[in-house]
Amino acid sequence: MLAEFLQNNSQLLSLLLITLLAIAAILYPTWRRKHRRQVLRQKPFPKAWRKLLQQRWPLYRALPADLQQELRRQIQRFIAEVEFVGCDGLSVTEPMQVLIAAQACLLTLKLPVNDYPGLRQVLVYPDAFAVQQDRPDVAGVVHNNMQWREGESWQQGQVILSWRHTLAGATIADDGRNLVVHEFAHQLDQQTGSVNGFPPLATTQLQQDWSLQMQVAYTRLQQDLQQGIAPWIDPYAATNPAEFFAVLSELFFEMPAYLARCQPKLYQLMQQFFQLDPQSWPLQQAELPTRAARHLN
Ligand SMILES: [Zn+2]
Repeated sequence: MLAEFLQNNSQLLSLLLITLLAIAAILYPTWRRKHRRQVLRQKPFPKAWRKLLQQRWPLYRALPADLQQELRRQIQRFIAEVEFVGCDGLSVTEPMQVLIAAQACLLTLKLPVNDYPGLRQVLVYPDAFAVQQDRPDVAGVVHNNMQWREGESWQQGQVILSWRHTLAGATIADDGRNLVVHEFAHQLDQQTGSVNGFPPLATTQLQQDWSLQMQVAYTRLQQDLQQGIAPWIDPYAATNPAEFFAVLSELFFEMPAYLARCQPKLYQLMQQFFQLDPQSWPLQQAELPTRAARHLN
């Protein structure tokens, strides 16, 4: 009877089997990731990593205990899920991975999606790296230009960093310059599918406020620069709205009191987006980086 049923319905059963396999293939990676994250939650945060953060990154010391705890959880997950690739002969050691992951996870600490879903690799160069750009001039003649970069963020799931600048960004935590924060702000911006200084914002109200206030501040910055007025932010922020958001993120995390004082509306918007208030973190004066500290490996 069963044999007869199978024979009569073989096509239907094959289709059912293929459908089930297809569903399993779609669901398996998500299940595996969820399971791996659950296992990871049980693993203690390595003492050496904690010591490294305490010693090398003044901002970590300034964070309240609950945020430190959340950051440690996100660092473990980041290191487990993202591939680090050394470039130009650089070997990306575990301490380097921890310092990069820590600064990247600072941005996602309280975000509803508190990771970088599309990110697959972090490529690390020892220092600034050369990028070749072919640009046509007004006559249409293409020129090969070499440009030096400290970092890049790609929509295809890669972030590229100069280690020297990454370490400087971590060590000097109150100068408003942080390469990792900058590049990972671009990653957040890129999550919406376009790169326009408009990261995924939780509410319609925030979207409207963001659109208005950022545009006003960005336009005014460009006018100030044209008129020779000293800008309140690194002039690189005037390159385009995406760079404006990335440079603003550096200021928000590293010079929050300054940003809140000179651009209170922007500070408030960033506070609402990141759901963090860095102004309330008692950042101790960053220790002057020693030559040894700059050569962590
Ligand atoms: Zn940028």
